[in-house]
Amino acid sequence: MSKIVAAAAIRGAQELHKQASDALNKAIKEKGPDTKIGFPETAFYLPMANALLGAQVETLKEALPILEHAKSLLPQVPSERVWLPYLGDALNAGMSALFSEEIIVALRYLNGQEPQKDCNGFFTDTIMRSLGIQLVDGRMPGFAAILGAAPDNQTAVKIIRELQERNILIFVGSQAKGRSIIDQLLEENVQMGWDNYIVPYGRDTISGIYPLNWAIRSALTFGGIKPGQAQRCLMYTKERVFAFGLVLGELDDIKYATGAGAINMGFPIIADSEIPEVKPSGITAYEALVKELDYKKIVPRCIEVRGVKVKVTKIDIPVAYAAAFEGERVRKEQLHVEFGGKAGLSFEYLTTKKLDEVQDGQTELIGPDIDQLEKDKKSMPLAIIIEVAGRKMQKDFEPILERQVHRFINYAMGLMHIGQRDMNWIRISNDAYNKGFRLKHLGVILHAMLHDEYNAIVDKVQVKIYTKLADVEKLLPQAKKAFDERDERLSGMTDESVDTFYSCTLCQSFAPNHVCMITPERLGLCGAYSWLDGKASYEITPTGPNQPVLKGELQDARLGQWKNINDFFYQKSNKHIEKVSMYSLMESPQSSCGCFECIAAIIPEANGIMIVHRDYAGMTPCGMSFTTLAGSVGGGVQTPGFLGIGKLYIVSKKFISAEGGLKRVVWMPQELKELLGEKLKKAAQEAGAPELAEQIADESKATTQEELINFLNKVKHPALDLPSLL
Ligand code: SF4
Repeated sequence: MSKIVAAAAIRGAQELHKQASDALNKAIKEKGPDTKIGFPETAFYLPMANALLGAQVETLKEALPILEHAKSLLPQVPSERVWLPYLGDALNAGMSALFSEEIIVALRYLNGQEPQKDCNGFFTDTIMRSLGIQLVDGRMPGFAAILGAAPDNQTAVKIIRELQERNILIFVGSQAKGRSIIDQLLEENVQMGWDNYIVPYGRDTISGIYPLNWAIRSALTFGGIKPGQAQRCLMYTKERVFAFGLVLGELDDIKYATGAGAINMGFPIIADSEIPEVKPSGITAYEALVKELDYKKIVPRCIEVRGVKVKVTKIDIPVAYAAAFEGERVRKEQLHVEFGGKAGLSFEYLTTKKLDEVQDGQTELIGPDIDQLEKDKKSMPLAIIIEVAGRKMQKDFEPILERQVHRFINYAMGLMHIGQRDMNWIRISNDAYNKGFRLKHLGVILHAMLHDEYNAIVDKVQVKIYTKLADVEKLLPQAKKAFDERDERLSGMTDESVDTFYSCTLCQSFAPNHVCMITPERLGLCGAYSWLDGKASYEITPTGPNQPVLKGELQDARLGQWKNINDFFYQKSNKHIEKVSMYSLMESPQSSCGCFECIAAIIPEANGIMIVHRDYAGMTPCGMSFTTLAGSVGGGVQTPGFLGIGKLYIVSKKFISAEGGLKRVVWMPQELKELLGEKLKKAAQEAGAPELAEQIADESKATTQEELINFLNKVKHPALDLPSLL
């Protein structure tokens, strides 16, 4: 490694250690050694120290040994005259820098100085889990951490758009010559936030620790690696977290030190300035530190150096198109036209036709386009009817394909799609309209994307778009009839009515030993895959992550164990899981990868279980928040008494039926109750406890065990009369 780079990284790490020590000593003096320290909503304490050293730092005094360790890693700055191999020393300095930076930002939290203005600050565990699916299914192929500022705002926006088009999650921050890319993007009105794949972390280099301690947590959360297994954690980030650093503007010692820390994690650094390059691979997959002075080439160079697998879908429409635009909102002041919602009648409906009835690629617009809006009007009626044909197309696939309309339309920049069926709401921005977007482009998108993602079952696609109220009203009853029939078909299916379940191993790219088994009455724990989705996915990609598994001989009807299913788990979990009960929380429950929608957890004193969903940030009666609970459930391991589940599994007849089913549920947040709504009431009725929805406590009734027991006794909750759980 270049002596210049090593010397700068070591100087930077020494400076960071001094800053951290001074700040920690000052805090201990002013606030006392037992003062709490930490980040919001994480079960991993100071994550870098937790993952790599196994440390559980909760107070100021517990941070002292971390800084001692950071000091022990600090080498001497290379002398002018003696030439040595510098790589090891520079990497040690990088590691030291990360420990110091983590303590500095934790102390800033203590002093109310983080998050910085317009910045996210620390990334919570909840966010990491909710992005899990996008990470594993390739929608989000990698992460970029940008430090500094581009030479001008236009270049900053261009780099960001190029990364967004490749669906790369972008963390922006730090600064160069007093200017931060965050402000460049704000000045250009670029929408930032998790939904837009652009997350500002902070305006100094030290806050660059946030993306890094987020990345290291994925090793603990999804990789099933124990805190303290430093080498395994670093191998995991190198092999499974496709991140890189992009430094815009001059590098200083602190940036070199932070960069050396990132290189330890397998993340290469690409800079736009004249720097000495470090090209040997090993710690990183390819080169460790490279320069690219041409802004036209800089994004492709980053992709190449990190080896990110990008799937770009080029669609012939006048606006940018990528998953990174999925969460973009079109606000009222940006609006050109809207359909559905409160603005009027709108629906979307996908149906199967015979091959000779579909002219592939044809989009028909029946009615006025969005450049013929009535004066002073900003809304129109809309019906989007998608007709598909294919030799392998089946009626059962229709809802699965139709559900993608939401995603496909949202990927277009300047378009917003919410809801589905006859409850959709679509907005088109002035910006998209001015760039030439018209209704026929909806057809172009749907045609291209259905072919791109579902070409194994879809041979032809044509789209009809109606914008006259009379047409929309006339066509709606036919669509509604189909929606009702579909609901019937899905709700009529039981685990007994099929001889095959579907596996899902999509999350193994992050949680190598985790397998989901999806049955008609139990969807995947992420909530994204039902049995029909598994079936469709298998038809589409027969060698993919969803495989049919014949149930075979029934071994235990109460627990829900079959011989073939157990054999499959054993084989696909790399021999880590011998048997799995499909219907039990207590005996050989399914493992959890980390991206579960909810966690079910036993409360022995109540003879029941509580369920918490990931959007609930408060305390639960088991004494833990969702985040803390999640820390002990994920990583592809079986944890009796705890289970990661999809929301809809709660209202299934097979929901922990081995333990008595829904009647065991004693607590769930109000919001979760509301989300389940009528389904929860119906399931309670079917379970023979029609009052159950009201008998289940929520945070307004109890947040401690004592309050919970009092409430359950008062309402005579049925769990109190069930056999003991233990
Ligand atoms: S079904 Fe399971 S394995 Fe598949 S994506 Fe969802 S959580 Fe991951």
